[in-house]
Amino acid sequence: MKKKEIEKIPFVGGTKAGKKYLNTISAFIQEIKGERHLFVEVYENRNGKLQVPWIRMVFTEKDWGLYYPESGIWSAAGLEEEKRKIQYTFTAKTNKAYITETEIDRIWSFNSCKWLDKKFHSWMDVLESLINDIRCERTQKRSTNRKLRLDERIQNTPPLPIDLQEWAGRKLFSDEHFLYYKRHGRYADIACSACGHVTTIAIKRGESFESQFETVIDPPVNNSPGTCPYCKALGTYKAQGKTKGVYGKGKYCFVAQPYKTNGAVIRYVEIEKIYRLDTMAEERREIMLEAKESYITTEIARTYLEEGKRPQTDYYKHSSYTGEFWDDCNLYGMNSIRISEAKVYEKSYEWLKDTFLQYSGAKEYSRFEPIYNLTGYLQKYVQWSQIEMLSKMGLHKIVRAMISGYSGIVLDQNATHPEDFLRIRKERIQNLIAVEGNVNYLKIWQIERRKNLHLSEKETIFLAESSMNENDIVEVLKYTTVTKFMHKIEKYASIDIPDSFIEQQLCGHAAGVLRVTCNLYIDYLHMRIQREYDLTKQIYLFPRDLQAAHDRMVLETNQEKIEKRNREVSEKYPNIRKNYRKLRNRYFFEDEVYLIRPARSAEEIVTEGRTLHHCVGGDNYLDKHDTGESTILFLRLKKQPESPYITVEIRRNTILQWYGIRDTKPDQIAIEKWLKKYIGVLKEKQEILAVTA
Ligand SMILES: [Zn+2]
Repeated sequence: MKKKEIEKIPFVGGTKAGKKYLNTISAFIQEIKGERHLFVEVYENRNGKLQVPWIRMVFTEKDWGLYYPESGIWSAAGLEEEKRKIQYTFTAKTNKAYITETEIDRIWSFNSCKWLDKKFHSWMDVLESLINDIRCERTQKRSTNRKLRLDERIQNTPPLPIDLQEWAGRKLFSDEHFLYYKRHGRYADIACSACGHVTTIAIKRGESFESQFETVIDPPVNNSPGTCPYCKALGTYKAQGKTKGVYGKGKYCFVAQPYKTNGAVIRYVEIEKIYRLDTMAEERREIMLEAKESYITTEIARTYLEEGKRPQTDYYKHSSYTGEFWDDCNLYGMNSIRISEAKVYEKSYEWLKDTFLQYSGAKEYSRFEPIYNLTGYLQKYVQWSQIEMLSKMGLHKIVRAMISGYSGIVLDQNATHPEDFLRIRKERIQNLIAVEGNVNYLKIWQIERRKNLHLSEKETIFLAESSMNENDIVEVLKYTTVTKFMHKIEKYASIDIPDSFIEQQLCGHAAGVLRVTCNLYIDYLHMRIQREYDLTKQIYLFPRDLQAAHDRMVLETNQEKIEKRNREVSEKYPNIRKNYRKLRNRYFFEDEVYLIRPARSAEEIVTEGRTLHHCVGGDNYLDKHDTGESTILFLRLKKQPESPYITVEIRRNTILQWYGIRDTKPDQIAIEKWLKKYIGVLKEKQEILAVTA
């Protein structure tokens, strides 16, 4: 839409129409820059509203737009909403829009759609069909283009390597063959999936003379290794009776091949090895006829990587309607196809040399991680070319973290020196190689450079293994040095951190204790900071007994919370205190064992709830008590009148509920009996009051 040009064209104005019409329509055709435009303006049918339409709809053959002069807004919506507002319907009774025949003819003259018939369709139908045609054409064009590109990729994809299955047999299935066996007497039949042959062989020496010359093997045992007597292939024994006729297991692998000029296609393939045993029933027993093995190869996904282009992944899908097909987008949600770690077909690296990914370092990386996500690796390489260097330096743990999506490792995309893009001190590169690119160490050395620290090896181990995050480390270092902190933690945790990360490693147990202790310390420190203790005092910064000091701080912090809540409710519900006397007159009662009275204050209700661990201290009950919707009463032992026991919610002379600790009903029969008596007393009391009043 040439919006600026269109806005310059003056409104033609509306024709004043009869009173029954809400709207009056003007339509005209105007050429803008050699293109025919249909204008349909809708005016409110009122004096003073006929100069500026409330909506101007503009159409060309390829586009449309709705313009609202009052707000100056253009909309690309359809007419679904506005149709109602213009209120045109075909029956004259509800026709609220006035339009002359001339105008209708103009609209029809713009219509290129042959199937619309003036007898059955309105001018509004014409406008809607204009929009519909444009929309259809657009989606078709989009999907046609996508389909064309997909077909083009399929055509340019080379066939899978002819020896892929043979390679898979060796590398994915370790040439595993099945030796199905069935014992009968002192013989066994052995069907070999490698050669297919069924051999009958002795498993026990016979007593006859001839049997001395027989070959005898050890009796086969299910799932144990054996040798085919016929072709000598090594295999795994499978007892015939325990085995299904067809057995398959699937494995995945990656195949990288050149694509077009210097691009590559990375294919994620599932190969299934099928073992099959054919048998025949003969008299009372089943006879093995032949064993077989075969492969089924299914491609799952193809990722096309081309220089300077966005990576494109196509997925192989199955549909019960259309069968199997390639699609350029993944499935949605739970069923989405996932590409994960797998072995890489051996010629892939050779083939990648002919592509722009020749220096990716994938082969070097595979020496450390033979099973990995090649697609993920190469996609990361296209994004971060530094991966090559990381792989070649043996920093494979960093690379693995990058493939799995961990960000914040390579901090400078344009840097060429590893110390620059990793943002660590130059001398740390050697250390980083020594720990194979351990990401925890990298993070510590990044902090070291950023905060201008100088860490010993021992301190590095300490910080890296502690799993503390940067904020916490920085927080601690406001009050002390790494050295001092480390010594304290060593003492708290009773562990010795090794002096060098090359000589010895922190064992798993010690590392666990270190992490727990650091967590505890950080938690403790946060509470001290929050409560504004003077942390220049060593007794606060490093207490002698960390656990005990931590627990004391928890109590202190909770006490603070309690007081805060009490202040809150006493401000929010002042009426509870004010109405106490009045409610006491009405509800107080005691006998030899129990007393019952209303809450004196909001704080008291909160305390009751906290002590008895039920929800009466929540705003819901406080609200009800405050407004008089219901009243909270405390039922207590007369000997311990200040100790919460039972909480009662009452409305006039009806008990709504009652509970003791943790929503239980202690001494239920006696309490219910007592409450019944209490209600009787209340009613009596009211009758007396009514009489005296
Ligand atoms: Zn064999």
